[in-house]
Amino acid sequence: MHRLAHAGPRLLSRPGAVGGLAYNLASDMKAALKRDEFYLEYQPQVNSDTGRVYGVESLMRWKHSQIGSIPPPVFIGLSEDTGYIADLGLWGFEQSIRQMAEWRSAGMTDLIMSVNVSAIQLADKNLPGNVMKILDHYDVPVGNVKLEVTESIALTSQMVKNEVLARLHALNIQLAIDDFGMGHSSLTYLKKFPVASLKLDGVLSRDVLASRSSCEIISSIAELCASLNINLVAEYVEDEEHLLKLRSLGCPNIQGYFYSRPLGSEEAFAFISKTHKAYGEQSRQLSVG
Ligand code: C2E
Ligand code: CA
Ligand code: CA
Repeated sequence: MHRLAHAGPRLLSRPGAVGGLAYNLASDMKAALKRDEFYLEYQPQVNSDTGRVYGVESLMRWKHSQIGSIPPPVFIGLSEDTGYIADLGLWGFEQSIRQMAEWRSAGMTDLIMSVNVSAIQLADKNLPGNVMKILDHYDVPVGNVKLEVTESIALTSQMVKNEVLARLHALNIQLAIDDFGMGHSSLTYLKKFPVASLKLDGVLSRDVLASRSSCEIISSIAELCASLNINLVAEYVEDEEHLLKLRSLGCPNIQGYFYSRPLGSEEAFAFISKTHKAYGEQSRQLSVG
């Protein structure tokens, strides 16, 4: 599990300035969390057939007091290297559920909050218990939450063997396979380990405009998902041409700049409310404070 999680470049072991900066950032993280430098944004997931937002993905941000915004792949990677991701990831999950509870109380009871989970967290036997404790505490049903796991760890024999994933599944926590199509896929595991969603990798999804074979791959993935009752989502959808192509291939669920960038909590609430209002659903005003 650790080997896979560390498949990317390890910033901490780089020589010179990069390694030094990485070391300083990594040592800053705990204090930064206490200083409220971390926060979440929420990117809408839209059913393009109806225009309605059915879910959001929570995305973590770090605004460092001196350096400014640190890109998520940098600080998430560093926190995986130091092991701090266990605490940081749990903090992100709790914030996401706290937000979900607030939106539920405003009437958004069927919204799904997707939270990213790192491979390191899936090696932590306490994760399922911690997840359930947080859901209980905020009184949020399991049906309102989905955990996103990247394909490289998910679709391997490890998935079937991973006790943490098995426990999460037994607790009815929905799982999504992130970055699907990046080459590790073994579709047979989808039958052995039921997942709620597949998120097409951005590279594959974007390729539909240029490549016929990518179109064929996506339409067969869409067919497979329909037969296994898996929700298929395309990411990185930035323009209408792309959206229409994906829809014609059987993938109407869209996350990307075409609809919206990741948004702060109030903006996200307004965005979701607007699409729900078009369906006659009224969301209540959020109480401030
Ligand atoms: P991801 O899970 O694949 O998240 C999607 C990324 O694509 C996000 O980048 C999002 O801002 C970006 N994106 C969405 N739509 C578009 C689009 O139309 N065009 C373009 N160019 N980009 C788009 P972000 O927020 O920088 O996050 C990068 C990665 O960092 C995430 O990739 C995820 O792997 C990781 N990450 C972010 N938040 C968390 C977290 O709370 N926990 C963990 N473990 N990982 C996280
Ligand atoms: Ca994700
Ligand atoms: Ca992704």
